Amino acid sequence: MSVLILPDQPKYVAWRHRMVQQLRQKGITDENVLKAMDKLPRHWFAGNTLLDHILYDVDQAVAIDCGQTISKPYTVAWQTQLLQLNPFMSVFEVGTGSGYQTAVLCEMGARVYTVERHAPLFRKTKELLAALRYTHAHCFLGDSWDGIPEMKDFLYDRILVTCGAPTLPEGLMRQLKVGGMMVIPVGTTEQRMLRIRKEGEEPSQWQVEDHGNAKFVPMLEGRNF
Ligand code: SAH
Repeated sequence: MSVLILPDQPKYVAWRHRMVQQLRQKGITDENVLKAMDKLPRHWFAGNTLLDHILYDVDQAVAIDCGQTISKPYTVAWQTQLLQLNPFMSVFEVGTGSGYQTAVLCEMGARVYTVERHAPLFRKTKELLAALRYTHAHCFLGDSWDGIPEMKDFLYDRILVTCGAPTLPEGLMRQLKVGGMMVIPVGTTEQRMLRIRKEGEEPSQWQVEDHGNAKFVPMLEGRNF
């Protein structure tokens, strides 16, 4: 199967600049996040060009396949900024979805291990990321509640959850390096955006910071093949 990569156009470049300005106004200050989002054509990831103008609206999530969404630009910027990423860090992402967030992380120099539970989305996005030459994006199909079996002995610098988790997944916390951080929206219908700093192996050494309200599609158990 070949992947259709829509060309970038001056109007998209202009919309991205405007989007980045709005992100600054909304409090995003991490220049590496802003640079990555200024560079990356978001319409590559959404599939539906009829919605292209909405895609660059900082506050719009847009529907993708399998009843899922591509997170709104503000959310992507906010979560990525909270990660305090440095180049070459390993990041485990829960919820590959469109692959946009994965590509933002790759643009920032991260090595990304990303998992998606919907098989059609997994296949499409894996192929797209490969066609775009994101060689540091490693895609897996499965339920990420306890991490992925192929990577069970690996420890990540960062974990980013892009769906709403009902509770804190302890199994995932165990796959963080000491000194690492997890950014995760926790809650059922609405969530709180938490950043957890792992300062030791014991849960009592996991420092939880609350960064405010969030709204995500739910983190579900089990695969959907
Ligand atoms: N990062 C994505 C956001 C996608 S929305 C983007 O930039 O487009 C969240 C995604 O999480 C959905 O695709 C959903 O299918 C997936 N998801 C939900 N529960 C999951 C689980 N337990 N394991 C893996 N993926 C999950």
